[in-house]
Amino acid sequence: EPALYIVSTPIGNLGDITIRALETLASASLIACEDTRVTGTLVQRFGLKAPLMPYHEHNADKQRPKILELLGRGEPVALVSDAGTPLISDPGYRLVRDVVEAGYKVIPIPGASALLAGLVGAGLPSDTVLFAGFLPQKGGPKTARLKELGSIPATLVFYESPRRVGATLATMAEVLGGDREAAVARELTKRFETFERGTLESLAETFSGDAPKGEIVILIGPPGEQAPADAADAEALLRLALETMPVS
Ligand code: SAM
Repeated sequence: EPALYIVSTPIGNLGDITIRALETLASASLIACEDTRVTGTLVQRFGLKAPLMPYHEHNADKQRPKILELLGRGEPVALVSDAGTPLISDPGYRLVRDVVEAGYKVIPIPGASALLAGLVGAGLPSDTVLFAGFLPQKGGPKTARLKELGSIPATLVFYESPRRVGATLATMAEVLGGDREAAVARELTKRFETFERGTLESLAETFSGDAPKGEIVILIGPPGEQAPADAADAEALLRLALETMPVS
């Protein structure tokens, strides 16, 4: 089918490629990817042979018409990023818009993403979530952005480089308050996957030394009250309230 397939690839553990992703990549006329070496290794590993085309921030405007032209000829095109789900702090958003606008189908082939893997393992409320990607690197804009996000009643999810994680956690503790609940997920899906959980202050302390190895997701719980009560808690609270309610 002529469509742009947004194909998720593993974020470390190759076992996370989906059957549908393999089928889609195998039948694509073209695979647009960030780095042809990275995706080359992946497709080789699975014995696939579709032609690769580099598609990244710097050549996107030039490559987009070629992709639209292929779709116009009825060919299926796949978009992948170096790791995880395209468009999630990765290129692809403009392409999807243009493809939709041109009247072609966009079909997501979901799979691994550090955002969701980090979220479901963090132990923080998962009912309302704000994905904030990478923070600005410079101090002023970074603090301003954290202030902007700080009062939103949601679990906040950030991507961060291991080199900056210590300093970023310290800034977060300063701007959002040291006692706010948070978690740091490292090396997700890989052999040395770890979750550090605690307050922003304790995590800033944990990561104050040398840069840790591997990739990192920082998650911060909502401000004020913690996890929403689940149904069982609600019932217990209700019973308690009924017991103590004055009856006239
Ligand atoms: N599109 C990808 C996704 O769906 O997760 C994210 C791409 S973004 C350019 C790369 C960032 O994602 C890393 O700097 C890190 O913050 C996070 N990340 C990717 N893989 C990870 C992993 N295995 N463990 C922890 N974080 C990871």
